[in-house]
Amino acid sequence: MNWIYSSRDLIAIIIAALAVVVSLITVIMQRRQEQRAAYREIYTTLMSDDLHRGRWMIRKVSKTHIIPKDEQEVRLIYRTLGVFDNMAMFARRRVVPLKWVLEVWHHPLNEMREGVRDIRKHIKEGNGTSAAEPWPQLWILLDKAQAYHSTLPCCPPNNSWRDRIRRSAAPSRWRQRPGARSRTPG
Ligand SMILES: [Zn+2]
Repeated sequence: MNWIYSSRDLIAIIIAALAVVVSLITVIMQRRQEQRAAYREIYTTLMSDDLHRGRWMIRKVSKTHIIPKDEQEVRLIYRTLGVFDNMAMFARRRVVPLKWVLEVWHHPLNEMREGVRDIRKHIKEGNGTSAAEPWPQLWILLDKAQAYHSTLPCCPPNNSWRDRIRRSAAPSRWRQRPGARSRTPG
C-alpha cells in the first residue's frame, strides 16, 4: 500500500484532470445541443409557407431580373432576406453549425444570389449609391455557398484532392456514387 501514499499527489492530479476533461465534454455537448435546437428553429421559420413563398419570389427575380412592384410582395421578399441575413449572422457567431447551413442551403442560396444582387442594387439606387449595404452578412454566406461543394449527390463530382478526401471520409452510405446526381427541389 506504500506506493499509494507515495503517488497520492499524482493520483489527485489525474483525478482533477479527469474532472476537467469530463466538464469540458459536457460543455461541448451542451453547446452542440443548443446549436442544433437553434438550427431547427431557424429551419422551421425558413420553411414556413410565407418565407418559402418569399424565397421562390427571390428565385424568380434571379431568373427574370424583374423586381415585383406589389408592396406586399416586396415586404415579403425583404422579410425573407432579413431571416436569411439572421441565419448568416447565427452561422458567423456559431449559434448554428455553419456546416449544416451550407449543406442544406447551398443550392437555394445559389439560386437566390442573382436576385439578391438585383434587389440590393434596386434599394441602393433608390436610396442613393452611398446608402448602407443591406443584408451584409447574407452576402458573406452567399459567397460561402457559392464556394461550397457537397459530398452528397446534389453537386457534380469534383476531382480535387480536397473533395476526394472529404468523400472518402464520409460514411459509405452517404457517399456520392460516380454518375449519380439528384436534387430534392426545395
Ligand atoms: Zn450540392
